[in-house]
Amino acid sequence: EGIGLKKHFGGGGLLSKPTIVRAVDGVSLGVRRGETFAIVGESGCGKSTLGRLLLRLIEATEGDVRYEGRSIVKLDKGELRKLRRELQIIFQDPFASLNPRMNVGDIIAEPIWLHNLAGGREKRERVADLMRTVGLLPTHMDRYPHEFSGGQRQRIGIARALAGDPKLIVGDEPVSALDVSIQAQIINLLEDLKDRFGLTLVIVAHDLAVIRHMSDRVAVMYLGEIVELSETDALFDNPLHPYTQALLAAIPIPSPTNRQPKALLQGDVPSPAAPPSGCRFHTRCPHARALCKEQHPALETAPDGRQVACHFWREIQGAGAGSISAPP
Ligand code: SF4
Ligand code: MG
Repeated sequence: EGIGLKKHFGGGGLLSKPTIVRAVDGVSLGVRRGETFAIVGESGCGKSTLGRLLLRLIEATEGDVRYEGRSIVKLDKGELRKLRRELQIIFQDPFASLNPRMNVGDIIAEPIWLHNLAGGREKRERVADLMRTVGLLPTHMDRYPHEFSGGQRQRIGIARALAGDPKLIVGDEPVSALDVSIQAQIINLLEDLKDRFGLTLVIVAHDLAVIRHMSDRVAVMYLGEIVELSETDALFDNPLHPYTQALLAAIPIPSPTNRQPKALLQGDVPSPAAPPSGCRFHTRCPHARALCKEQHPALETAPDGRQVACHFWREIQGAGAGSISAPP
């Protein structure tokens, strides 16, 4: 499975001059079968867009998404329907993504009837099985989404994603709307299901702490580009890119007296409609030099195999996070 993508959104109304928002720019990556692949970055960096492009829930402006050797960009409607069964998505807000007028049994059964997998009694039994699998009571099949807690609703979303027998599931911030105490339960559930059903997981997250223990590899995105791609352990032990270093430094250390995350990453992400010249991170990077404003750093491969897009990653390596300040 590999992709090389651009997604530009045409903004503005009919009368205004349209602006092009570059949400995902020339991103190229491959997800390995059976792995958990994380895409991280602040909001607005294009990671959700990338997740949706992967499943062709939105169309790429240019570029390609390949899944098991086939380009999914060129599939016709019928082929795409088949693909939709293998590739599923779990959304950030389980409540918004569940139809409030459908009972939970029907919600979970949707992929089953959509793909003619089972009918009648067999369908009902499959739904009951799926509910048990995700830790819900099958006797609650006739209830409606508002009768469940946030964590239970995410379990409903996961059961629905599993109903079509998927091979790959994209989780778009699957736990960030949930209480911290519930987050670990949902992460554990996803890990169990991955092992049990041999799934490939792509987890989109803004919180590195969430993906640390569940992902095999991580792609760090900034303003629509991948700035670092690495095995998870190597990334946490020794982040190469200044942006990754800042994201890691911002992870709060849980203790009763330390409730606020260190705010090392200051300033907002610049507008994707007009990304900074050269290295897009130069307006917030403590290591920026003149070259950074002028030349766009290519994603290069470090000796240990990971990829990093920074002119000075060798010099910066091991220098620590520094402090990231807002653009002047
Ligand atoms: Fe910072 Fe320059 Fe590296 Fe960009 S290329 S991350 S501005 S040092
Ligand atoms: Mg998002």
